[in-house]
Amino acid sequence: MATTDAAVAMRIPHWIAGRRTESGSGRSGPVFNPATGVQTGAVDFATVEEVDAAVQAARAAFPAWRETSLAKRAELFFRIRELIHARRDEVAAILVREHGKVFSDALGEVTRGLEVVEYCCGIPQLLKGEHSEQVSTEVDVHSIRQPLGVVAGITPFNFPAMVPMWMWAPAIACGNTFVLKPSEKDPSASLWTAELLQEAGLPDGVFNVVMGDKVAVDAVLQHPDVAAVSFVGSTPIARYVYETATATGKRCQALGGAKNHMIVLPDADVDAAADAAISAGYGSAGERCMAVSLVVAVGDVADPLVAAIRDRIPRVKVGDGMDPDSEMGPLVTAEHRDKVASYLDEGDVVVDGREGAPAEGFFLLPSLIDNVKPGTRAYDDEIFGPVLGVTRVATYEEAVRLVNESPYGNGVALFTRDGGAARRFQFEVEAGMVGINVPIPVPVAYYSFGGWGDSLFGDRHVYGPEAIDFYTRGKVVTTRWPDPATSRIDLGFPQTR
Ligand code: NAD
Repeated sequence: MATTDAAVAMRIPHWIAGRRTESGSGRSGPVFNPATGVQTGAVDFATVEEVDAAVQAARAAFPAWRETSLAKRAELFFRIRELIHARRDEVAAILVREHGKVFSDALGEVTRGLEVVEYCCGIPQLLKGEHSEQVSTEVDVHSIRQPLGVVAGITPFNFPAMVPMWMWAPAIACGNTFVLKPSEKDPSASLWTAELLQEAGLPDGVFNVVMGDKVAVDAVLQHPDVAAVSFVGSTPIARYVYETATATGKRCQALGGAKNHMIVLPDADVDAAADAAISAGYGSAGERCMAVSLVVAVGDVADPLVAAIRDRIPRVKVGDGMDPDSEMGPLVTAEHRDKVASYLDEGDVVVDGREGAPAEGFFLLPSLIDNVKPGTRAYDDEIFGPVLGVTRVATYEEAVRLVNESPYGNGVALFTRDGGAARRFQFEVEAGMVGINVPIPVPVAYYSFGGWGDSLFGDRHVYGPEAIDFYTRGKVVTTRWPDPATSRIDLGFPQTR
């Protein structure tokens, strides 16, 4: 049961033009500590006018920010990096309090996000253009990349610090100004970020936060002064955001949900595969878009693998994320916990995580369903919780076909000791991020992150080199300094000489 502790329910406002700004909408959403079920905050929900105010603040800050030299931007990013690193415990504690993940996992989230900030410290190198001398007689050509203007990010609940970092860091480093609409379920990390960026010396208006729900999202999508939108969230909303943003002429990348398969071949080490399945299935209570949701057991590995996973489940320590012994925390809300638990009402349930779950807070213990088949809810839906399914197939070909027939294509993993099988797999599997004996293949910051199929709408992945492309426009300059004495009229189409 969710309860409200009015004495501690803190108001969580917007951040516009360098200041905390309370909404006048009269609308707000509850924020809970998922480990206790107690409401700890109330987040403001923006009006259309408040979104406009944030966009106008970003618009006003843009001319000076885009003129800020690359040297100064790089210097600022080094300062941001140092500040976040020094204060990572603070933001990790906020993540635990509002999301529920355990403290060590929250620190991991901050560290992986920080990698993107570190990548952006190299912005002078990343924005380098090209130059060709004498492309035609006395004619030179060079290319430059320029920022888009005001860009927006709309982010999900499951990585309240890292996913915004994927967006604001490259967007701002490229010279854009930014409006963030974080998840209303765990919004405080965004305010923390805003204050830290100000402390680091980022000019007011370059980074703004509007809190809210669909009203705020739609206002961003419809706003004529927003040039581009990055979105991460569930597939139906990603599709809607992509269609709406592009219909209003914006550049858009919209990352959606996932259903990640982990294929285990008969030659794999069963203990290592079981460890990986437990870690990637139940880490962050399964609330990761790269979580392993289905283990596809090929041939006779199935029985020992299911037994090894089942035996490990009771050893996973579940509890409040601030308890250093906890390895898995609660789910984000009571509604989400109940929805995830409903998958245990059917199928071949081997371990039912409703049994023995703490009564307080939004807990569900690690759960396991065997013989999960396509066409069932447990197979088809992104459950987004600590419910691992096992699908049994006879051959490698059958396993790959399952992956390739999935509407999603985010992450996939293969566990084997056969290098030839691994090489063939990476060639033919249809997914954006592939792990070979790596269950959660989230790319490092100097590669880009993104799935295929219904896991990504748009043609640019997030962070890494593709983010630099996404947040800039190319320009090519052709230059000639002719001797006026050689000047003549020529109405023909320019040709190289
Ligand atoms: P969500 O789609 O419910 O919400 C994401 C954002 O969209 C939030 O800011 C929310 O306020 C907004 N939103 C929600 N409903 C809306 C509506 N009807 N109209 C307009 N905006 C709306 O997602 P979530 O539950 O916060 O996050 C979990 C989902 O995100 C999972 O599906 C997960 O796979 C996905 N995710 C994907 C990636 C990826 O990289 N592909 C990464 C993290 C999370």
